[in-house]
This record gives sequence, structure tokens and C-alpha cells, in this order.
Amino acid sequence: MQSKKELAVFLSKLKPFEEPNPKLEQYPTDAEVAASVLWDAYMAGNIEGKHVADFGCGTGILGIGALALGARHVAFLELDSRVFPVLMENLAFLEHKTDTTYSNYDIVEGNVASYTEEADTILQNPPFGTRNEHADTQFLEQALRLAPLVYSFHKTTTKEHISRIAKQHNAKITNQADFDFPLKQTMAHHKKTIERVAISCFTIER
Ligand code: SAH
Repeated sequence: MQSKKELAVFLSKLKPFEEPNPKLEQYPTDAEVAASVLWDAYMAGNIEGKHVADFGCGTGILGIGALALGARHVAFLELDSRVFPVLMENLAFLEHKTDTTYSNYDIVEGNVASYTEEADTILQNPPFGTRNEHADTQFLEQALRLAPLVYSFHKTTTKEHISRIAKQHNAKITNQADFDFPLKQTMAHHKKTIERVAISCFTIER
């Protein structure tokens, strides 16, 4: 991938969740947003040649973007194995588009709370805790235990909470990228077609 734009176009062609489970807050990251965060992480030297983990990978947009940008290895971790057929289709699409065979990734079915593999960089767009309060806290704590550098999406309004958790793990927020997240109408309980929510991707380092 030669540019952020090219990456965004590629990511926009990945398949979304087939039957999103509201309890697990299965919202895909928007392709433009994912490309922006991934490209900035790549330019900062945090993707190419690195061991990357995608926590709560869903259909894989973050980890697949990392593979496309030259990660040494990507661990895709997901609780809900129903998403794996789509994830594998998306990986096949990456191979097709880049004319490359990738064997430098693992797909792991599991709960982030009991995951133990360390990484250089963790990417995550966790459940925001709208259904289970502070579901994102569990992701953040585990990520900070397992990697010195975490890119993590949260509601902008929860920054203080995120900052406190970071501090407890001797880490701090070193960057904040703000987005208006389009939460598309993929679930029955949504009324408006497109609802926008203020979301930030926090870079957290220890
Ligand atoms: N990373 C994807 C999906 C984000 S939605 C993207 O950016 O598009 C959040 C994902 O986290 C869902 O796929 C959900 O099934 C998964 N998830 C929720 N709780 C989890 C847990 N405790 N452990 C692992 N994955 C979890």
C-alpha cells in the first residue's frame, strides 16, 4: 500500500459482519477511520516489522491493514468464532489484491481477559461498554499488560477513565485522534439510519 488513500479504498472493500451480535457490540471500524489510524501508526514505525495483535478482531479490518503495511506477525483474537468465515474471506481478498501469500498470522478464538501472548503493538476497537459497562476496561487493561504500545478506540467522553487506567499500568495517553464514528444501522435497536458518535483513538504507551 502506497498511501493512506489506497489503504482506505482497499479496507472499504472488506466484508462486514454478517449477523452482528449486539451483546458483543459488533460494530465494524469505518474504513477511512481504520486507514487513518493504521497509516499514522505505520508512519510512526509501529507496524512494519512488528508483532501486532488485533484484539476483538471481528472481520479483521485492523489486523488485515497491519498485514498489508508489513507487520511481521498479526494475532487475530476474537471471542465469537462465527465471524471467522468472513475474516478468512477478507484475508483471502488481501492475498488476491496484493498477490502475496501470508502465513505470518494466527487466528485465535478466545476471550481477551485470558489471552497471554505479548506483542509490540496492539490495535483494538473494543466494545464501548454501552451494553456491558466498562467492557472496554477489560480490553485496555489486558492490552497494557501485553504490549508497550496500544492504539485503542473509545468514546471521547470517557477520556478521563481511559487516562486513569493507563496510569494504573504506568502508561499514558500520548496521542488522541478524534473521529465522528458513523454507527451504521446494522442492528434492530438503532432507530436512525446513521448515528454519529464522538470517538477517539488513543495512543497509549508505557
Ligand atoms: N475490530 C473489529 C471489530 C470491532 S467490534 C473492527 O474494528 O471492525 C468488537 C469486537 O470485539 C467484536 O467482534 C466482538 O465479538 C469482540 N469481543 C467482544 N468481547 C470480547 C472479548 N471479551 N474477547 C474477545 N473479543 C471480544
